[in-house]
Amino acid sequence: MLRVRRAGPACTLTLVLGAVTLFFVGCLSFSEHGFWKKEEAEKPIEPVAVDRLIRVRLMGRRPRPSEELSVTAPYALTDTQSGAQFGEKQPPVSLATVRPAGEAGIEIGEKLIPSGDITLTPSRDAAIVLGDRTYRGTLRIQREADGLVFTNHLDIEAYLKGVLRGELPRYFHIESFKAQCVAARTYALYSKRNKPAGKTFDVYDDEGSQVYKGVAMEDATAVEAVDATHGEVCVYDDGEKEDIFCTYYSSCCGGLSQHVNNVKPNDPPAPPLAGRVACEDCYVAPRYRWEPVKISKAEVTKKLVARYPSIRKIGTVTGLRPRKRTEDGRIISMEIVGSGGQKEVLIGEDFRLSMGGRLVKSTNFAIETTKDAFIFKDGKGFGHGMGLCQYGMETKARRGMDYRRILATYYPGSTVKRIYE
Ligand SMILES: [Zn+2]
Repeated sequence: MLRVRRAGPACTLTLVLGAVTLFFVGCLSFSEHGFWKKEEAEKPIEPVAVDRLIRVRLMGRRPRPSEELSVTAPYALTDTQSGAQFGEKQPPVSLATVRPAGEAGIEIGEKLIPSGDITLTPSRDAAIVLGDRTYRGTLRIQREADGLVFTNHLDIEAYLKGVLRGELPRYFHIESFKAQCVAARTYALYSKRNKPAGKTFDVYDDEGSQVYKGVAMEDATAVEAVDATHGEVCVYDDGEKEDIFCTYYSSCCGGLSQHVNNVKPNDPPAPPLAGRVACEDCYVAPRYRWEPVKISKAEVTKKLVARYPSIRKIGTVTGLRPRKRTEDGRIISMEIVGSGGQKEVLIGEDFRLSMGGRLVKSTNFAIETTKDAFIFKDGKGFGHGMGLCQYGMETKARRGMDYRRILATYYPGSTVKRIYE
């Protein structure tokens, strides 16, 4: 999800942040002592124009054969590519089945639309009900393979109100919600900017990006946190420019965060993601230490092949050998030994996700091998351990730390900056 591309409208934020930074760091003058020195900026900063539209792919990775749709207000129906509108305002629809129709069309209830890429724009907000979830903004429906894919387009501030409660327990402190909100906003804008060419959405609605369940998740705490941090993102100054970075976060680091390139070798190694942030505050997490998990060798093989079909050639997995660990024990790379003695190597986090991210809760574990199974034991932490630790954040918030200091702690060298009003 994070291939770097800096072209077209997606680079707006970079350019704008770059311009703002140049304004600050570019104000140098030659002093009477012969040294270049910084002068205070005198002119007000120009308002920043950021493309705030976020496009969220709904309902998983695969096209759906059909889905149930209601639109509870009149809506405009347009061809997404050409912008041409089909007829006058469409009347509201209730529990219509939407599905592919004919060679290239889409059917909504009885209505056949001669386009495979349409956008519904209701005249009132929060009027789209897809499956059992209500969404703000507009809905794009595209034919893909034999089914349909659904993408919700909405302003990032509205999106965040539907994200926070999917990412944090209700009882978390308001400063935690604010810190999470700034991280989530930065993450979404970074994903939007760095998405691969041709991709028609910025984020998924699940753990692959950020959990987003629409209007139903907008409670008072979420709304308060979004409004209190309106337009704020995490930035760092690399010496030449100020920029956002991929603000990864996970549930519980287990004691020490890890370097982004341990998990994502192709990501830019932004200093705030260099890891090694000691965190003694996530001990309150339910999965700070986790119980042993036993998985049969046959099942381990099946899970790995499902995700990496080429592993099939090594036969049944008979051995798992961590090749490289972090100083606190996280497995960076895992050697997988097959029944014929052949070997494959996977990134530790990829191995874990193959087993199931909720089953094997982190890459910090010991391995016991029995005749027909592996036991993952002495487990520490929950999640990938990059960047912000959510349970550590919560303990810090309850001790009185505000969200800006929390973010500066988990993303060292970064600051919080408002980039639009
Ligand atoms: Zn932690």
